[in-house]
Amino acid sequence: MYNLAIIGAGPAGIFTALEIQKIKPEWKIIIIEKGSRIEKRTCLLREGYQKCPRCKKCGLLCGWGGGGAFSDGKLTLTPDVGGHLLDYMDRVHVNEIIKYTDDLYLKFGATNVVYGNDRSLSVDIERAATLAELKLVHSPVRHLGTERSLHVLKAMQDFLDKKVTILTDVQACDLIVENEQIKGFTLSNGDKIEAQYVVVAPGREGADWLAKEFARNKIGMVNNAVDVGVRVELPAAVMEPITDKLYESKLVYHSPTFGDEVRTFCMNPHGEVVMENYNGISTVNGHSYANKKTQNTNFALLVSKKFTEPFKEPIAYGQHIARLANMLSGGVLVQRFGDLLDGRRSTPERIKASTLTPTLTCATPGDLSLVLPYRQLLSIIEMLYALDKIAPGVASRYTLLYGVEVKFYSARVKLTNNLETQGVKNMFCIGDGAGVTRGLIQASASGVLAARTIASRG
Ligand SMILES: Cc1cc2nc3c(=O)[nH]c(=O)nc-3n(C[C@H](O)[C@H](O)[C@H](O)COP(=O)(O)OP(=O)(O)OC[C@H]3O[C@@H](n4cnc5c(N)ncnc54)[C@H](O)[C@@H]3O)c2cc1C
Repeated sequence: MYNLAIIGAGPAGIFTALEIQKIKPEWKIIIIEKGSRIEKRTCLLREGYQKCPRCKKCGLLCGWGGGGAFSDGKLTLTPDVGGHLLDYMDRVHVNEIIKYTDDLYLKFGATNVVYGNDRSLSVDIERAATLAELKLVHSPVRHLGTERSLHVLKAMQDFLDKKVTILTDVQACDLIVENEQIKGFTLSNGDKIEAQYVVVAPGREGADWLAKEFARNKIGMVNNAVDVGVRVELPAAVMEPITDKLYESKLVYHSPTFGDEVRTFCMNPHGEVVMENYNGISTVNGHSYANKKTQNTNFALLVSKKFTEPFKEPIAYGQHIARLANMLSGGVLVQRFGDLLDGRRSTPERIKASTLTPTLTCATPGDLSLVLPYRQLLSIIEMLYALDKIAPGVASRYTLLYGVEVKFYSARVKLTNNLETQGVKNMFCIGDGAGVTRGLIQASASGVLAARTIASRG
């Protein structure tokens, strides 16, 4: 019998463990992680494979550190982006937890440099953005880079190894709920974990499992907006006037035709585009190294759409669109912006005859208009033209669009203000998988919040 069992060793689960062992050092705590320990994590694509073998457990997403391990390690130090914690707590409280969480990252080896703190540097960008009908969201960013992210998460693993039980390569299966109270859960190896408290933190990778487990237990969920889009790649020089000052710029636009929100997300100056595999579904993402630079910059353009009743399958909607891209391309599809506008597919020859070399070499040249709904595709095109006004060259015919980028945080668990599941006592749902967050710092902060509440109950 454990005092606390944590499902998932991503940032949300790790920070739950860091905080709880500090307040309750005498407690028996266990972390269950379906992937491997951090030193054993590999992604064959990163090691030179030409084609993603679609591993059963994606090395990029599963294992100690979760999606954070090979991430770009951008810690966005504001409550305004990267999650919904402001829906549960007032701004002062969220700011305090973000600061506390950031300090923990620093303690475990994060870099000191924060971009975007000096607002005077971004006055010109803000003005140009306003004229282009774009909103620049002020967001200071601490950038770790992929190498440092791995280092920090490894330090956390080494520290927690001595304090809690860490069980890797085993998956949580059935949640055991009795009389509206969590009792534990079963494991893929046939064992059962009994615990007084359970924190469920399975990330986007486990969002589908969580939604199905909740449906089985008749626990309610609500829909977040569905975020679908593309990853844009262009010469780093095009974005330098912005990225040199802010590193990452969060720009929000409302597309003229449909009025939908389109935003830039996860900008990686001199970075690379990567492919990720969600239980057999390939999608695209990006990251950058602190010390290894490519000639290109990439970022996502995500179109947010909130659907109304009777729609209740936001994750399945995103999966459906991603599957279309997979069906046509065998994985991820890439198209030049000019080809999209000309109504023709990109071909290997056309990609070759560009000024830009793709960093994701296994993407198949194709046609995004066969994959993305008209509404989302047009919103992306309109956003590219708006961005071109503040960074000329964005709407170049050579700009590459990879499809698709989908974020599986669109189903949200119904929670109390302390992130406890409504209707199931002692079960807390946190991080991206619960639909509460969508970035490293808020996912980690949600773990701190859950741990503090649990500890306060004794
Ligand atoms: C390539 C890439 C780059 C990124 N760059 C950034 C960035 O620069 N800045 C930023 O803020 N965010 C970034 N992100 C997003 C960030 O990684 C996530 O927001 C964050 O990791 C979410 O944390 P989490 O703990 O909620 O989930 P995750 O990190 O996804 O961790 C969940 C863990 O739970 C495990 N799991 C799932 N189901 C089960 C189960 N049933 N049993 C046991 N274990 C289970 C998974 O294997 C996984 O390890 C990036 C993501 C990727 C993939």
